[in-house]
Amino acid sequence: MSARVTFWGVRGSIPCPDVNFMDYGGHTSCVTVELGEDLLILDAGSGLQKMGRSDLVKRHKTLHLLLSHAHLDHIMGLPFFAPLYDPDYTVHFYARPATGETVDGLLKKMLMPPFSPVTTETFRATLHFHAFKDGESLRIGNHTIATHPLNHPGGSTGYRMASDTGSLCYITDTEHTVGKTDEGLVRFIKNSDCLIYDSMFCDTNFTSYIGWGHSTWQEGVRLQEKAGVKTFFLFHHSPDAVDDHLKALAETLEKTFGHQVRLAKEGTCVYV
Ligand SMILES: [Zn+2]
Ligand SMILES: [Zn+2]
Repeated sequence: MSARVTFWGVRGSIPCPDVNFMDYGGHTSCVTVELGEDLLILDAGSGLQKMGRSDLVKRHKTLHLLLSHAHLDHIMGLPFFAPLYDPDYTVHFYARPATGETVDGLLKKMLMPPFSPVTTETFRATLHFHAFKDGESLRIGNHTIATHPLNHPGGSTGYRMASDTGSLCYITDTEHTVGKTDEGLVRFIKNSDCLIYDSMFCDTNFTSYIGWGHSTWQEGVRLQEKAGVKTFFLFHHSPDAVDDHLKALAETLEKTFGHQVRLAKEGTCVYV
C-alpha cells in the first residue's frame, strides 16, 4: 500500500498569514505521512494546529510526532494541537535532544512561564518520549525509520521511511557547502521516490546567508541527480518568497524538469 503524504505547513522560519502568501501557504513545517495503520507527523510548526482539527486525527488515536529539531518554527504548533488535551489520545514524541537533555525536558522548557500559559501538566493525552542518537533507526509499528544528522545550528535530523510502493526522505533544516557534495546525505537519500528538501534560498543569494543553516533549490536538484531521486519537493520556503515569486519559480522548474521538481504547497497530498 502506498503512503499518503500531506503538507500542512511548508513555510520556513516564521508563519506568513498574509494575502501574498495564501497560494503556497503561510504555515511553518508540518507534514503527515499515513504509513499503513500508522500516522506519522513530521514537525510541529504552525501547520500542526489545522492538522489537529482534521479528519485524519479523528481516525488515529495514536500519533507519532517526529521532530527535525526544536527551533521555534518546528514546534510552535504544539500548544495548539487539540489531541494533546484529549485523554483518548496517545502521542509519541521522537527527537534527538542535545547531549544531557531529554525529549520531555525539551518540551517542558518550551512550555513554561513566562513564554507559555500552558505547561505539559495541562495535557491530558498519554505522552511517550523517545530520544535517539544521530543515525539511529526508529521502529514505529512495522516500519523502520532511518535518521540522518543534518548541518544546522544546534543540529537537525533528516528522516527516511518507506511504504510498500516507495520511499520518502524529509530533509530540513540543513546547509550545504558550496561546491562540495554531502556524500553522506547522497547515500541517505539514494534512489528514494520522494525528497522533501530545505530550499529556503537560491544559489544567487545563498552566500549572504552562510551559517543560517539552510540550503538552496539548486542544491536540491544537484542532490536529486546524484542520488537518483524521482521527485523533489522544494520545502521550507523563505518568508520573503511571495506567491508571485513562487509561481514564477514553479513555472520555470516545470519547463526544465517536468514534474520531477515541484514546490511543496500547503493543503496538497501526494502518494509515495
Ligand atoms: Zn526551520
Ligand atoms: Zn532550524
